[in-house]
Amino acid sequence: MSRSHKGPKPEEIETARRDPRLRRALHVGHTDPEWRMRGRCLSVDPETFFPEPQSNQTPHAALALCSGCAVRSACLASALEAGDRNGVWGGTTPRERQAMFVAWRDAVPVA
Ligand code: SF4
Repeated sequence: MSRSHKGPKPEEIETARRDPRLRRALHVGHTDPEWRMRGRCLSVDPETFFPEPQSNQTPHAALALCSGCAVRSACLASALEAGDRNGVWGGTTPRERQAMFVAWRDAVPVA
């Protein structure tokens, strides 16, 4: 019998804490309020970034665009701040962000 586990596992959270994408997002935060206007995805079909929720396929095209995007850290910071669980943001998949949400909450001081 297997137990279902809804949240990220402790080892996944620990990995997320060390993820350079998360660390850069923590560093950059919201220093650029205009980041959305500079995203590489501005002229791309939004569906590229929002694959079907049941799809197990990695959204390679979206991740490739993010990898060369100048504002990916601000984008990821915004998604983590907002708790956005859908779509690709800042070069991360929704699944990757599950553990990042916990690491983010632990690292960002409560206002
Ligand atoms: S990191 Fe990705 S989702 Fe975010 S603005 Fe850039 S291309 Fe768009």
